[in-house]
Amino acid sequence: AEMQRARSEKLEALGTLAAGAAHELSTPLATIAVVAKEVQRELAEMPVSDDLKSDISLIRTELDRCRHILDQMSTDAGQATGETLADVTSSQLVEEIRSLLDARLIDRLRIIDRSDDAVIRSPRLVLAQALRGLIKNAFDASPEGREVVVLLERTSKHLVMTIRDEGPGMPPEVLARIGEPFFTTKDPGAGTGLGIFLAKNVIERIDGTLRIESSSNDGTTVVVQLLRKPDPWDATSAGGVRGK
Ligand code: ADP
Repeated sequence: AEMQRARSEKLEALGTLAAGAAHELSTPLATIAVVAKEVQRELAEMPVSDDLKSDISLIRTELDRCRHILDQMSTDAGQATGETLADVTSSQLVEEIRSLLDARLIDRLRIIDRSDDAVIRSPRLVLAQALRGLIKNAFDASPEGREVVVLLERTSKHLVMTIRDEGPGMPPEVLARIGEPFFTTKDPGAGTGLGIFLAKNVIERIDGTLRIESSSNDGTTVVVQLLRKPDPWDATSAGGVRGK
């Protein structure tokens, strides 16, 4: 199961990188395409060789092909990373995370849910997998048998998940590198160093934040803030106080 997780994490990281690259390349490509079209238009009115005219036409065809490839890449990568957003309540999220955790860890997981079923917009499974990874880290760091506490709270704008462990914490040199892809202090095979990188990516894609508070010998607290979908009630009341 761990091997499978490592594999799916690597694939997801690839998807994230591919989607990012496709996105970055699409802007310069669009500029080149506009310029190429202009050049072709001007060449048409000039006494230039047919070879040159067919060269520019080839450039335009190939640019079109590149654009199609990039479109496909961002669609595929988007699917691989489960971009489709859905309404997810905090209790659905907790259920999803529990279903992804080893049964023997669930016994040591204390969930305090004070979120009153706040709703977020999120790719449900992908986010649950990301949060599961953070909770798994907390267990990996915890002394044998010790609890990991997950607290869910709601603020006016956010669903806040705090994951707290009583492990050794992180020295500054580890904390500084956290979230770098492939950074791990675990044995090869046990860690991919992609967990936090991917979690941060997913969370930031839905306008959330991930913050880690840790120092040596003082455990670790991971705070994840997820943007709440406003209550219907909030929406009405916001309409009601318009002009205030
Ligand atoms: P992995 O778990 O595969 O190593 P992560 O990106 O999830 O990858 O974590 C990177 C590193 O951050 C870990 O190898 C570990 O050194 C450190 N780390 C993460 N979470 C904790 C934690 N709760 N307590 C102590 N160290 C942690």
